[in-house]
Amino acid sequence: MQKKSNRRTLAYVLFALLLLSAVFYAIQPYLNKKPDIPTPPKTETPRPNIPQIKVPDFNPDSAFLFVKKQVDFGPRAPNTPAHQKCAAWLVKEFKRYGFVVIEQKLQAPYYKGGTFNGVNIIAQYKPELQKRILIAAHWDSRNEADKDTKDVNKPIDGADDGASGVGILLELARTLHNNPMDMGVDLICFDLEDNGDDKGAQDTWCLGSQYWAKNLHRPNYSPYSAILLDLVGAKGARFYKEGFSRDVAPQTVEKVWNKAHSLGYGEYFVHENRGPITDDHLFVIRGAQIPMIDIISTPNEGDHPFGAHHHTHNDNINIIDKKVLKAVGQTMTAVIYETYNGVL
Ligand SMILES: [Zn+2]
Repeated sequence: MQKKSNRRTLAYVLFALLLLSAVFYAIQPYLNKKPDIPTPPKTETPRPNIPQIKVPDFNPDSAFLFVKKQVDFGPRAPNTPAHQKCAAWLVKEFKRYGFVVIEQKLQAPYYKGGTFNGVNIIAQYKPELQKRILIAAHWDSRNEADKDTKDVNKPIDGADDGASGVGILLELARTLHNNPMDMGVDLICFDLEDNGDDKGAQDTWCLGSQYWAKNLHRPNYSPYSAILLDLVGAKGARFYKEGFSRDVAPQTVEKVWNKAHSLGYGEYFVHENRGPITDDHLFVIRGAQIPMIDIISTPNEGDHPFGAHHHTHNDNINIIDKKVLKAVGQTMTAVIYETYNGVL
């Protein structure tokens, strides 16, 4: 009897415990309810099974020397000896850093008459790899200083307008050579960008990129990210989110601007939208259906959206600011290596 009664008590106790724990588990989510926080995007997961590579430092002193070397050839206006000499030097430099270089020669009409002889310089890092990032800039300079008050018919140095972007590409090539990784990178120097008609048709500009877009160096080329650098070296540079870039590749724009901010370059990469700009990326978008973004400085100095030095003789080596080269170059270095690491 006693035994039986004990067993019954034990059964009651067990049942009560079971009931209590069931109630507890049922109401627990409500006890600890946290405010709704959106789940972060899953892009921050490192790629498994590959060794992560630390993002290397981008050296602005070296980038500056690459800019200066181009300027020292004299203005890289098409159909001039300086233009030819600089092209040969660029090819040699990229090859020195182990890149496989294509010299894509082209001829295109100059809107004032005659024909330009141009060459797109396509420098490929590990061309055998399928996953690739494309970063481009134009390497020619304008053959007139039409926004200046004197010597308007003489070509400009184009230290910012041309040489700055290419200087960053060369330093990226040197960085990749010293810090190898297994992802493809294409660094393209477009020719004949900057000798178009300021008051005329859009397609008088960007003749090299127009040609490349119709004659891609790889069949079915579809880079993971495509980024154009233009006017990326002058004091007071400000990079806003350009219109065509936002239309075709809003995620790349956000990725680049957020990365620049996280690296401390928010002063240059401003979280503000601006209108569309005719530049090489437009013809890459239209001609090759590659969603390319443009990092281009539009500091809006009075009547000069691209800065007071733009298309004047003040666009010389003195306008170049190493801090700006560093901001853009370090951001591009992070984009390359963090894409490889799978965290961008
Ligand atoms: Zn220009």
